[in-house]
Amino acid sequence: MKKSRVVVVGGGVIGLCTAYYALRKGMEVTLVDRGKPGIDNCSARNAGMIVPSHFIPLAAPGMVAKGLRWILNPKSPFYVRPSLNPDLMRWGWLFLRYANARHVEHSVELLRDLNLESRRLFEELTADEDFGLVKRGLLMLCKSGKGLEAEAEVADMARLLGIQAEVLDAKQTAMVDPSVTMNIAGAVHFPQDCHLDPQRFLESITRRVLSMGGTIHQEIEIDRIIRTPDKITAVEGSGQRFEGDQFVICGGSWTSKLLRNVGLRLPLQPGKGYSLTIDSPPQLPQLCSILSEAKVAVTPMDGRLRIAGTMEVGSMGTHVNRNRVEGIIHSIVDYFPVFDGVDFSSIEPWAGLRPVSPDGIPYLGNAPHIENLFISTGHAMMGLSLGPVSGRAMADLLTGETPFRDLAGMAVNRF
Ligand SMILES: Cc1cc2nc3c(=O)[nH]c(=O)nc-3n(C[C@H](O)[C@H](O)[C@H](O)COP(=O)(O)OP(=O)(O)OC[C@H]3O[C@@H](n4cnc5c(N)ncnc54)[C@H](O)[C@@H]3O)c2cc1C
Repeated sequence: MKKSRVVVVGGGVIGLCTAYYALRKGMEVTLVDRGKPGIDNCSARNAGMIVPSHFIPLAAPGMVAKGLRWILNPKSPFYVRPSLNPDLMRWGWLFLRYANARHVEHSVELLRDLNLESRRLFEELTADEDFGLVKRGLLMLCKSGKGLEAEAEVADMARLLGIQAEVLDAKQTAMVDPSVTMNIAGAVHFPQDCHLDPQRFLESITRRVLSMGGTIHQEIEIDRIIRTPDKITAVEGSGQRFEGDQFVICGGSWTSKLLRNVGLRLPLQPGKGYSLTIDSPPQLPQLCSILSEAKVAVTPMDGRLRIAGTMEVGSMGTHVNRNRVEGIIHSIVDYFPVFDGVDFSSIEPWAGLRPVSPDGIPYLGNAPHIENLFISTGHAMMGLSLGPVSGRAMADLLTGETPFRDLAGMAVNRF
């Protein structure tokens, strides 16, 4: 039987994992990226966390009030750029509609299942070729008693969903990770969370894609999708044409621009964030952590320490806002006082654009009315964590098999 030819646009974690799992199903795969896959994108230098603990979508009660409070603080961790851009206004309106308890209730099981299945796939993948998966869990560090109370409620919810979570006071937290001095009230330990160096993971997947016969084209920007009324025949860009039987768009924050070509208006905004990597940290935590009140992620990576944070919704381009980077640095010193002496001025911040859907749930599925066009994006803060499960589920859809669970909540046309 002739192999189905799949063209994947985008070589971030989502596109690479899609290519990998499609190859495992025996498909012929061509991946095209406008930069260097696994390098010039949001996936390259993120915080490297795999997070079954993240079962609450971004659109949740309290986020609107927090966003409004933070709008005037130039160092705040969450910010929506005020703008009359109709796409951003539509995104904002949808976000307001979904930031409620009912939506959280509808979403928690889906996010839990996706994250746990993805974690299982990470274990399967690292058993095949080691990429440094660290399975020590995550600490949600709380500066204040009030913060700890709020996180303890999340821990209760986690346990009801079957996710392990333990509430710790400051002393107990120090026993879980004695390698770093913490100025905190306590923490929640989520033992099933993991971390890794995303670059190492992407290199491993890229190697596998190439060794299984996948073709990767870099520095080609796709700007045309060629279609008949109900089918795509090719994608084109930079003077090249790629024909195929099925097409998967995994273009991260640039996906909606590309989809306009076929008349689709996918609500999606870039959520800019920054990371800084300290090569010789004064102390090296053994577990990854999130500074709960500050919304900053901290991850040890092979002797280095990566700190990451900020969500500036609506900011396209990788211009670095120094105020927000200062906000990240300030909170590190606040929670980890020993870091006071670190010379942060010599560390170049990296900026990445998370693809953010307005309800905090990724898009994964078939494009409406075009039978051979598929979309996988909108993973926001969880793209690395959900990379393997998204790739695997997409490969199932491409071959007409049933994915591991119902994915209706991720439908591309749900708004
Ligand atoms: C500071 C920060 C920390 C984060 N920490 C974590 C974390 O700890 N855990 C986690 O799970 N997630 C984390 N994330 C989120 C995660 O990085 C993203 O969700 C993920 O990288 C999105 O992957 P993607 O493949 O969809 O997009 P991208 O990685 O952006 O890849 C999209 C690719 O498509 C290509 N492309 C776009 N348009 C075209 C076109 N027209 N033609 C050809 N190619 C095109 C781009 O060049 C790019 O390579 C973090 C993000 C940030 C910013």
